[in-house]
Amino acid sequence: MSATILIIEDETDLANTLAYNLRREGYATRLAATGRAGLEQAREPPPPDLVLLDLMLPDTSGFDVCRRLRAEEATRRVPIIILTAKGEEIDRVVGFEVGADDYVTKPFSPRELLLRIRAVLRRAGPDEAPPVEETRFGRLRVDRAGHRAYVDDEEVVLTALEFRLLTTFLDRRGRVQTRDALLADVWGYAASVTTRTVDTHVKRLREKLGDAGPYVETVRGVGYRFRSHPDEAGET
Ligand code: CA
Repeated sequence: MSATILIIEDETDLANTLAYNLRREGYATRLAATGRAGLEQAREPPPPDLVLLDLMLPDTSGFDVCRRLRAEEATRRVPIIILTAKGEEIDRVVGFEVGADDYVTKPFSPRELLLRIRAVLRRAGPDEAPPVEETRFGRLRVDRAGHRAYVDDEEVVLTALEFRLLTTFLDRRGRVQTRDALLADVWGYAASVTTRTVDTHVKRLREKLGDAGPYVETVRGVGYRFRSHPDEAGET
């Protein structure tokens, strides 16, 4: 049985594009253009398997919708991905406080969104082990739920983007990541950034990580690679 995704989004073009892309991937979709309609749709049994929720709705804020979904028994456990065009730092903090599972900043690529949807659905799946909330790697500790990173138990303050870059590296440790792949998965194709931006952010992330910085290795002419083991000798 295919998963049903409820799209709460007032921009008709975007909502239709999302629905089209999701159906092409085998998902069933439901659409709502206001917060009120979205809540009604979400309460309709059976509940959707996932909600894509725009923040700026005509009648209410996406945060309110999120809070209400979390407060009601029928929708309490439905995963929510927030779609936002606003400053990502604020949204990230508030979004997680109100119980969103993930957030995607507009403009985003269909591919990026699909990857996030799959990841969230996988985490929410009944047969899966609970999500790994904390990853330890040598001197580095990453608390995913809290969006915090530590080196030798000292917190490293990262931007939302740097945090995403770090967890992307961590999840693919030992595998070479091209700049293009990082651009697509961390920034999203639609982002108006160049591969040089990737270098700038990786450099800053490395600096912030200090003693754990060398875990991110440069693969000359290709991209980057996060070590597969903390004490692996640098090869480049
Ligand atoms: Ca909107």
